[in-house]
Formats: sequence, structure tokens, C-alpha cells
Amino acid sequence: MHDANCVFCKIIAGEIPCKKVYEDDEILAFHDIAPWAPVHFLLIPKRHIPSMAQVTEADAGLLGRIMALAPQLAAQEGCNPYPQGGFRIVVNTGAEGGQEVHHLHVHVMGGPRPWAKG
Ligand code: 5GP
Ligand code: ZN
Repeated sequence: MHDANCVFCKIIAGEIPCKKVYEDDEILAFHDIAPWAPVHFLLIPKRHIPSMAQVTEADAGLLGRIMALAPQLAAQEGCNPYPQGGFRIVVNTGAEGGQEVHHLHVHVMGGPRPWAKG
């Protein structure tokens, strides 16, 4: 499913460039254009699912694969190892959940935090 008005579908289609982190037949990961952390990338399904609100049990395998890829890609992109290092996973959902792009995406944010106390 491709939504012609969706910025992330355009990235998947190669119509908008991105800094790719990972790709397979059902998942794409790329750096966020406006990072909130030293490491900040997004994991998205290639199928246009608008948000977590539309997810069903049929998507459990896909979501499981996204979550299982997150730590592997976080390490690859420079997040330090657990427990001193680590990362945050955020899935904004709907306007009241802070979602701006309506194509399901999992934020992974981490990396060295020089401003953080000891
Ligand atoms: P949301 O608020 O919907 O959870 O987050 C959407 C995220 O997508 C934001 O962090 C924003 O910086 C990122 N974003 C929006 N447009 C683009 C784009 O064209 N390319 C990339 N790489 N990231 C984008
Ligand atoms: Zn889309």
C-alpha cells in the first residue's frame, strides 16, 4: 500500500532521499531529519499503516521484527552498550500523542549525552 500524500511512502519509493540505516522487504530504517539525540533514527514498515491505532494482531510479526531490529541498529549507529549506554524507543500516536507524520514509525534515540550528569 502506497499513500501518494505520505512523506514516508515517498521515502520508501525513493522519491525523497534519506540517510538509510537498514532495509529489507518489509522494513526501512533511516536517520531522522531533525534529530533530538546524537543517534536518532526511525524504523518504519514499508506498508502504509497510519499509526499504532490501526495495528492489529495480524501485524504482530512485523512489529516484533521492528522491535527486535532496534537494539541491533542502535548499536550499529553508535549507541553505547547497556546499561551505561542505551536508547529510548518512542511511538507517537495521533495528534494528542504528538504524531506529525501519519505513517507508523518507531523513534530510536540514544548516543552519548555530554550534558547528562555522571
Ligand atoms: P512524529 O512527531 O510524527 O512522531 O515524528 C515524525 C518525525 O519524522 C520527526 O522527528 C521528523 O523530524 C521526521 N521527519 C519528517 N519528515 C522527514 C523527512 O522528510 N525525512 C526524514 N529523514 N525525517 C523526517
Ligand atoms: Zn505512508
